[in-house]
Amino acid sequence: MVTEEDLGAWLAEHQSVVVFTGAGISTESGIPDFRSPGGVWTKYDPRELTFQRYVASADVRARSWKMRREFFAAGAKPNPAHEAVARWERDGRSPGVITQNIDGLHAAAGSRSVARLHGTAAEVMCVGAAPVGGQPVGCGWREDTRWAFDAIDAGTADPMCPSCGGLIKSATVSFGQMMFPEPIELAEQMIEEADAMLVIGSSLSVYPAAGFPEIAAARGMGLGIINAEPTPLDHLADVVVHGRAGEILAGR
Ligand code: NAD
Repeated sequence: MVTEEDLGAWLAEHQSVVVFTGAGISTESGIPDFRSPGGVWTKYDPRELTFQRYVASADVRARSWKMRREFFAAGAKPNPAHEAVARWERDGRSPGVITQNIDGLHAAAGSRSVARLHGTAAEVMCVGAAPVGGQPVGCGWREDTRWAFDAIDAGTADPMCPSCGGLIKSATVSFGQMMFPEPIELAEQMIEEADAMLVIGSSLSVYPAAGFPEIAAARGMGLGIINAEPTPLDHLADVVVHGRAGEILAGR
């Protein structure tokens, strides 16, 4: 049985710990993860909201905007786990955080180097009139997500890009959508700088994102995992702590 003291010793052993987070770091901020009862994903089937279906159907887009609104209704604030991650970067103990989350809570806690593998729900972007192969082909137009909600409230059921007339989508990575190259590059840079990776609140079941901890382990870096339940990569880690991230990391 690994204790929280072992985690403290493991953290002290490493010079530079890159953090990798999933939806579980934000549940204590009131944002449900994939599996939580009553969570967003129990009401909206992600298989229905793939990139391909989104670009093909105005009905799917309408349903997706409805889901986005529910996601934002939480009005979430960072919790002690996000705060610890930001503090480690400020203190020079971490190059930053690689996240699967789209909720903006790392930046809100003060993290500056954040590789958002799945984009951000705070912005919308033009994905072009006819993207194929899961690849956005937009004109570069981006706006605060509020812009889309305001357009819908003003009676536009399916807002289009004011710059080129293309389709508008949340600046997140949907199922079936290619990942953005910039956060992947930033994540790789941070892994280069670090001698260990700490995973917080990820089921490590969504690829390719979950491949990053595998890369860290394959390079011989230290690997720590904090999660409420076992993950498929626990056997690769030096330290695994099962519990609530905010409670475990408060004040660290
Ligand atoms: P996941 O839902 O697959 O797994 C979350 C893991 O966190 C679970 O294993 C759960 O047991 C654990 N967990 C829950 N609460 C915890 C806590 N307080 N402390 C420690 N562990 C806790 O999440 P994932 O691996 O990030 O994959 C989900 C995908 O869905 C991601 O790609 C992400 O983009 C998206 N998503 C994002 C958000 C968000 O931005 N907050 C929320 C839901 C889903």
